[in-house]
Amino acid sequence: MFRGILINKDEAGYQARLQEIDDAVLPAGDVTVRVAWSTLNYKDGLAITGKAPVVRRFPMVPGIDLAGSVTESADPRWQVGDQVLLNGWGVGETHCGGLAEKARLRSEWLLPLPPEFTPRQAMAIGTAGYTAMLCVLALEKHGLQPGDGEILVTGANGGVGSVAIALLAGLGHQVVASTGRLGDADHLRALGATAVIDRAELSAPGKPIGRERWAGVVDTVGSHTLANACATTRYRGAVAACGLAGGMDFPATVAPFILRGVTLYGIDSVMAPLPVRAEAWQRLARDLDPGRLEAMTSEIGLGEAVAVAGDLLAGKVRGRVVVDVNR
Ligand code: NDP
Repeated sequence: MFRGILINKDEAGYQARLQEIDDAVLPAGDVTVRVAWSTLNYKDGLAITGKAPVVRRFPMVPGIDLAGSVTESADPRWQVGDQVLLNGWGVGETHCGGLAEKARLRSEWLLPLPPEFTPRQAMAIGTAGYTAMLCVLALEKHGLQPGDGEILVTGANGGVGSVAIALLAGLGHQVVASTGRLGDADHLRALGATAVIDRAELSAPGKPIGRERWAGVVDTVGSHTLANACATTRYRGAVAACGLAGGMDFPATVAPFILRGVTLYGIDSVMAPLPVRAEAWQRLARDLDPGRLEAMTSEIGLGEAVAVAGDLLAGKVRGRVVVDVNR
């Protein structure tokens, strides 16, 4: 038996609660990990509350990220005691995840914990931070350089947004943070934003094309926000779209793409191949300021995770949340 969050869906409804879990619940896998830290991402919020059909099998241990050490391995690449990291691959959705003391996983999903990070720091980054890095890499590969102009980051107080601000600012970009929480503007400036705007400026239906402003965009919100961001991106600029916190729709026209040569990059972290992940984590180790990471991170115990998942979806959580699974 081990302690963890378990989600069940039956006649009694959809329930997530902290409990003792039988090892038999764990799916097949060739590596067993003693989890040290996990985290709460937007998707974990959806899984725990049941607000979207993220969980595909029941019972399910949520948690799309984990960091810990190997306790059993049938794969010679992993030895007992190795420190490992996992993000995505459907873990916490179709395969039991990280919000528990124990996880049984497929060896090909694991990455070695980068030596620059403690397990807690790796989870402070988590899928949100690694996705922010994938967005930055997409913009860089497009050719974006510091000095090119303002970069818009939407959902700025969220996990992806906060890490994107810190990364881009650290690389020397001019970052404009869009948020619904203007009261947190000083915090966003401390993370590196040079300007903070009200997300209401972007969230209403807009014109097919508007005044050119952004050299690049990291969008976590979707819907009208993404459409307006594309419509106001400069000639040959790029937009990295990774989120849907404001909606899954994309009420846009082709005008920015065919009149301004704007490029829209889709960012997926879940099934990204290992070399892509390795590059992102190497760059996080190089480019993310540990002080800024800590400034955006709050810590909870496993017993608080269900309640905080609801707060996260309600937009009440700032930055990143790490979960100490042993408390
Ligand atoms: P968070 O909940 O931490 O942040 C989301 C932020 O979006 C909020 O803090 C808020 O920022 C803003 N927001 C929330 N609701 C609305 C709304 N109705 N309209 C406009 N803005 C809103 O989530 P994450 O940062 O973990 O994830 C952000 C998005 O990215 C999610 O949709 C998530 O599913 C997606 N994602 C996608 C990944 C991928 O692989 N493509 C991987 C990771 C995340 P503020 O208060 O500053 O306005």
